[in-house]
Amino acid sequence: MSTSILNADLHCHSVVSDGTLTPEALAARAHANGVELWALTDHDEVGGQQRAAASAKAHGMKYLTGTEISVTFAGQTVHIVGLGFDAQDPRIVEGLRRTRGGRSERAQEMSQGLARVGIHGAFEGALKYVGNPELISRTHFARHLVESGVCQDTSEVFRHYLTDGKPGFVPHRWASLKEAVQWITEGQGVAVIAHPGRYNFTANEEFALFSEFKAHGGQGVEVVTGSHTPPEYVKYADMAREFNLVASRGSDFHSPDESRIDLGTLPWLPGQLTPVWELLAHRIQ
Ligand code: AMP
Ligand code: MN
Ligand code: MN
Ligand code: MN
Repeated sequence: MSTSILNADLHCHSVVSDGTLTPEALAARAHANGVELWALTDHDEVGGQQRAAASAKAHGMKYLTGTEISVTFAGQTVHIVGLGFDAQDPRIVEGLRRTRGGRSERAQEMSQGLARVGIHGAFEGALKYVGNPELISRTHFARHLVESGVCQDTSEVFRHYLTDGKPGFVPHRWASLKEAVQWITEGQGVAVIAHPGRYNFTANEEFALFSEFKAHGGQGVEVVTGSHTPPEYVKYADMAREFNLVASRGSDFHSPDESRIDLGTLPWLPGQLTPVWELLAHRIQ
């Protein structure tokens, strides 16, 4: 039987970044939903990895280490998921620490931008939702603006306040594509382009992203993710074959109240793709 029929969920977030559940609660939820192979992929952080791996083990679930690295490419933010790397490798630990730097200053500037349109105290408001002081993110601002009645839901906050050109948006320079891929691969992991359907790239820019990612040693792409529509599953399955990349599957679950797709509930990977867990069989804990 093809190994693509495996309930693997290799993308989600805990309170260590911008999720609302602890690593332990996520592990329990993943297990209850039938996940067989799990990875916690907090943004720019590996601080939850030991807890996640231990909880996975307690539930009898297989585990791969994970993170989701923020990268600036062609003037946009791109996310690169790392899987199966050594979470104690000093190169990735230090690289992620540097990538997290500057989030606090950025958040202060976001708050000033929001104050200019009459929304005051957003920094302090967002901080109430932050589990990790080094990882204040737009998601925490979005939760605060929903809770304080400015918007109905977080996607409305992003549309009106937190995306390029809106009052709370502050451009930020993250890691380079090359750095992110190298940190992951130097630690024996596999780098995966996260939710490629979410970026606003032209076809040429998208081609450049895939080509440069390959050239730096990147090996995988998310095909089935909570961020893709069914036609995008097909498009990125084709791209995986064209670029000879292995395929990943992950819900990108953040919160029971916000996420459309729950852990472990996505469709299977399309056939004829090599699942990323085949490449990482020797790294599964
Ligand atoms: P940051 O790293 O601070 O720029 O925040 C990025 C996070 O914001 C992403 O990881 C998502 O969790 C969240 N996000 C981005 N765009 C949207 C959106 N349109 N709707 C809801 N959440 C979003
Ligand atoms: Mn997020
Ligand atoms: Mn992402
Ligand atoms: Mn994510």
